[in-house]
Amino acid sequence: MLRIENKNVLVTGASRGIGKAIAELFADQGANVIVSDLDDELGKKVATGIGGMACYLHLDVGKEDDWIAANEFIKNKFGGLDILVNNAGIAGILETHGPHDPENLDIESWRKVHQTNLDGVALGCKYGIRLMRKSSSASIVNISSRSGIVGIPFAAAYASSKAAVRNHTKSVALYCAEKQYPIRCNSIHPGAIYTPIWDVMLGEGEQRENAVKVISSEIPLGAMGEPIDVAYAALYLASDESRYVTGIELNVDGGILAGSAASPPNK
Ligand code: NAP
Repeated sequence: MLRIENKNVLVTGASRGIGKAIAELFADQGANVIVSDLDDELGKKVATGIGGMACYLHLDVGKEDDWIAANEFIKNKFGGLDILVNNAGIAGILETHGPHDPENLDIESWRKVHQTNLDGVALGCKYGIRLMRKSSSASIVNISSRSGIVGIPFAAAYASSKAAVRNHTKSVALYCAEKQYPIRCNSIHPGAIYTPIWDVMLGEGEQRENAVKVISSEIPLGAMGEPIDVAYAALYLASDESRYVTGIELNVDGGILAGSAASPPNK
């Protein structure tokens, strides 16, 4: 049996990385997937590769006008929505000039990161709720980060935006429950997942190999994760298998958040 058969799904930032893996897995499990992104060429390629009912929609998650247009498109083409994955996000290192440390932060760079990562999720939830109220059973999955739970000294805007996503998820979950809407809302907290978001930090060639080794050595399970690892977690939260689960945070991080660097040495 397919796990989300005939569900209408919108995935943001789905032209590559984690969003692409989610779009492809959800389609494999019977969903009608709307692939959305800024990169139209790549996004259309993903939708075409999926085939069937999949389609592409340009959607800049930080712009309310784009969400209003998406709302109309989804209402007209699908009648409503059952699953929304608010995945689009930026680290801010490539997209802004920074800096991003707490002492020297550049306020415009700070705002840009929050506009995409936080406003994008808040707007997604706003229009998602409106599109999902009439669903028989709906789910919003917000992609936060392990950095929404711990700080990052030189990427403070990213960490702050992801912490806010973690908290807003719980407000949405409780709001929908109080309103008796058939909508659950949960967050996923990926650790280090090997996707293009890391490109600028990892470099290329031998430098990249060494950087991956260093990162992997700090992960209890010994390796960076793959996009499909996050996609399987999202599938659980999107499907009715998690019908009694709302407002939770699910870590997909190879054990990073389970421990502490200051733990006593093994004797
Ligand atoms: P990625 O490979 O960089 O993919 C992100 C996608 O989001 C890109 O296709 C990008 O499009 C799109 N995007 C950026 N800004 C957007 C906007 N304003 N509106 C719509 N789409 C936008 O990143 P990823 O690693 O798959 O990350 C996906 C999510 O997981 C992000 O929220 C990220 O913060 C989170 N996450 C990732 C990791 C990790 O280790 N990879 C860890 C924790 C959390 P363009 O290519 O056109 O810019």
